[in-house]
Amino acid sequence: MLEVTEDLLAASHPINHSVPSSDLSFLFNQKNLSEYRHSIENGLRLIEATIQDKQQPFSGKTPRELAQVFASINLDETLNGTAEALQELTSVYLDDAIYFHHPKYVAHLNCPIVYPAILAELFISSINTSVDTWDQSAGGTLIEQAMIDWTIERIGFAQSADGIFTSGGTQSNLMALLLARDHYCEKQLNGWSIKHQGLPACASRFRIFTSKLSHFSVQKSAALLGLGYDAVVAVDHDEHYQMDMDSLKEAINACKLAGDIPIAIVATMGTTDFGSIDPIHEIHYLCEKEDLWLHADAAYGCGLLVSNKHSHKLTGISLAHSVTVDYHKSFYQPVSCGAFFTRRPECLAYVSYHADYLNPRSATLEGTPNLVNKSLQTTRRFDALKLWLTLRIMGAKALGAMFDDVIELAQHCHKLMKSDGNIDVLTQPAISTLVFRFHPAHSSVKPRKTDDVFLNDCNEHIRKALFKKGEAVIAGTKVDGKSYLKFTLLNPETSLSDIESIIDMIKHEGNEYINRIQSTSLSTSTLVRQTQEAEQEK
Ligand SMILES: *Cc1c(COP(=O)(O)O)cnc(C)c1O
Repeated sequence: MLEVTEDLLAASHPINHSVPSSDLSFLFNQKNLSEYRHSIENGLRLIEATIQDKQQPFSGKTPRELAQVFASINLDETLNGTAEALQELTSVYLDDAIYFHHPKYVAHLNCPIVYPAILAELFISSINTSVDTWDQSAGGTLIEQAMIDWTIERIGFAQSADGIFTSGGTQSNLMALLLARDHYCEKQLNGWSIKHQGLPACASRFRIFTSKLSHFSVQKSAALLGLGYDAVVAVDHDEHYQMDMDSLKEAINACKLAGDIPIAIVATMGTTDFGSIDPIHEIHYLCEKEDLWLHADAAYGCGLLVSNKHSHKLTGISLAHSVTVDYHKSFYQPVSCGAFFTRRPECLAYVSYHADYLNPRSATLEGTPNLVNKSLQTTRRFDALKLWLTLRIMGAKALGAMFDDVIELAQHCHKLMKSDGNIDVLTQPAISTLVFRFHPAHSSVKPRKTDDVFLNDCNEHIRKALFKKGEAVIAGTKVDGKSYLKFTLLNPETSLSDIESIIDMIKHEGNEYINRIQSTSLSTSTLVRQTQEAEQEK
């Protein structure tokens, strides 16, 4: 555990306690700038010491072990100052957090981040702009709009397109399907306004098409929009994990034959597991023919917008009616930082509400830019500043070069896995993920289990065992019901030798698992139960 010593922290400034009734010394204002600085400096030192100190991405503590740390904390008893609170923070948080900057964190789409964006966070919080109305943000609104316009140009949309920053891909996808649903009703149902009238009777027949590999937020959005999970038709993918066009066409035809109503297709530009990019040109052709809304979910693939080598992979994205971008995935920005774009900007009005106290219609007519008019949120963080400072300090080229590095690393990693007799890797990475599993070349003992059950158990065990040790964090997923392991490479500091060492850990844990099965005379079911019990104990 990291000790927060007197040395580490800056000398404390005496706090003025002269007002007993209400203590204003904590308010951020002109009077307390030295306390502000002192507190931020102490935080900075602790963060530096923490990052300096971390040898692995995770401590391996279980939820139960960590919960014990909380048991002795009485939240109604305030601690004696910042130093004590930071000391406590190390034990409740920093000692056991997951560290995404670590080269052996290769699990999910949470990226290491660039410091110009962290610098922006300090301004975002200190100034505390809310980008809902001009009278709460002023220049902030223009900075956000500039970032929207910049991204629109990268996407290849016309200048008339518009967008808004969101909390991430989930909210962006919800907006996309909301716009698609309301647009359909307005155009096809004689100006039916869901905003005013609620869902029309036929809404239970609305259908949204997407690939089986698209993000679950598509289903979640359909549920939130009153259409239900069942409104989402999940279409098969081909051997490259891209949406299969024949299946899509069949699904749309079957839908129409059944009397259901296709309203939208969601194409994924970088699936979460495979990075695969759906064939947007063909999907667009179909959308035109069937008069459907085309949404492109580029939550992961958006990094290609700044890539210096692979931007062509997103060719055709501008054909979509709307696009999801997650800067907090492949633009190396801190959570949260996402956005939603549409080339039908008039459709953003489906989410506007004119409140007299906040954003009256008159303000819009006067030309006051109130971003709340196009957002699901009201009070909203000024996340756009992170991208702004990143572009101004570092530049898009440098961002793209980092993403290009991990794309290249993924190709090397694939070669490595291909040549390893004990690893089955499913496919060449489309961006920077690898889906694979440990599959021992010479294993005779798989007692009373089919190959697949054995391999499923073994690979699930490997992921948990690695997480428990904390030296590397990898992900797991299922493909056609079978358990696989997954690397999501986003850190350009991850080297091929880091990858080699993680693969060694995987094989080590896999072989241990086999040895345990071999060395016991217990029946498989007993063994499995004991393993599960042992894992619960941890
Ligand atoms: C991560 C992801 C999302 C969800 O984005 P959040 O920022 O986590 O809300 C949506 N779509 C895809 C393809 C994703 O990978």
